[in-house]
Amino acid sequence: MQDLELSDNEQLRGYATSAQGAPSHDSTLIDCDIDELYYGKFKAVRDVELKIRERTITAFIGPSGCGKSTVLRCFNRMNDIVSGFRLRGRLIFRNEDIYASRINPVAVRRHIGMVFQQPNPFAMSIYRNVAFGLHLNRYQGSVEERVEVALRQAVLWDEVKDKLRSSALALSGGQQQRLCIARAVATRPAVLLMDEPCSALDPVATRRIEELMAELKKRYTIAIVTHNLEQAKRVADMTAFLYVDISAGGRTGYLVEYGPTQAIFEDPKAERTKEYMRGVFS
Ligand code: ADP
Repeated sequence: MQDLELSDNEQLRGYATSAQGAPSHDSTLIDCDIDELYYGKFKAVRDVELKIRERTITAFIGPSGCGKSTVLRCFNRMNDIVSGFRLRGRLIFRNEDIYASRINPVAVRRHIGMVFQQPNPFAMSIYRNVAFGLHLNRYQGSVEERVEVALRQAVLWDEVKDKLRSSALALSGGQQQRLCIARAVATRPAVLLMDEPCSALDPVATRRIEELMAELKKRYTIAIVTHNLEQAKRVADMTAFLYVDISAGGRTGYLVEYGPTQAIFEDPKAERTKEYMRGVFS
């Protein structure tokens, strides 16, 4: 991936274009082909093969422990920080395998940002939170402008524009999560990974994040892990259903079925998906 090896500022310019330019012919942005994934000797995941298209929302659903977060974290090499993590397979982002030895994982994360379950603003002002990645990347343009755009994209600007220098920690949980989204989009990644972004929020704040995701989809490609199936139905274009294989005495997660959300929920093909949906919804 050539532009992953450019300087930070060239990268910023690079992904500003990618986030806002026209989609390419083949709209696949991430081509995931995980054969096996280990934490030490434990095979946590096997056989996850799917393509994520540009400017769509893809939801990962399935029972606890089936590997949803693990797969999501593969997309920006967040699992690399876990000792013993090992992946057999490949993950193609913009025609490059992000697990190739020449690829810098830190650069990958600039293109593929992440929002976590617990809102995790830094203990600094609202402004500095959003400007953080820009300073880190030595962004040469107007930081102020970028901060405002990011806060507007996260639909937080009107609520915070008069207190940008106040501590981010004084915001409500829902506002903090939108701030984390603003922080993630400030550097204009192509992809936003969201790992249960609403599970610590009340229903009103949850709904706002869901509405925000629908807006963000116009510019970014989103992959979300959610245990809330109704949420997947509401927000996702595509849904991946994972399950846990206990047949060999292990607990290995695998992809059962992947397709348009409506088809997965209303007309699943795999027996396992049908059973799961019956269990959850009956
Ligand atoms: P889910 O998101 O579907 O609940 P996870 O991806 O969190 O599932 O976990 C999948 C499996 O991998 C589980 O058995 C979990 O215990 C294991 N696992 C997750 N993270 C780690 C880690 N850092 N070290 C070792 N095992 C892990």
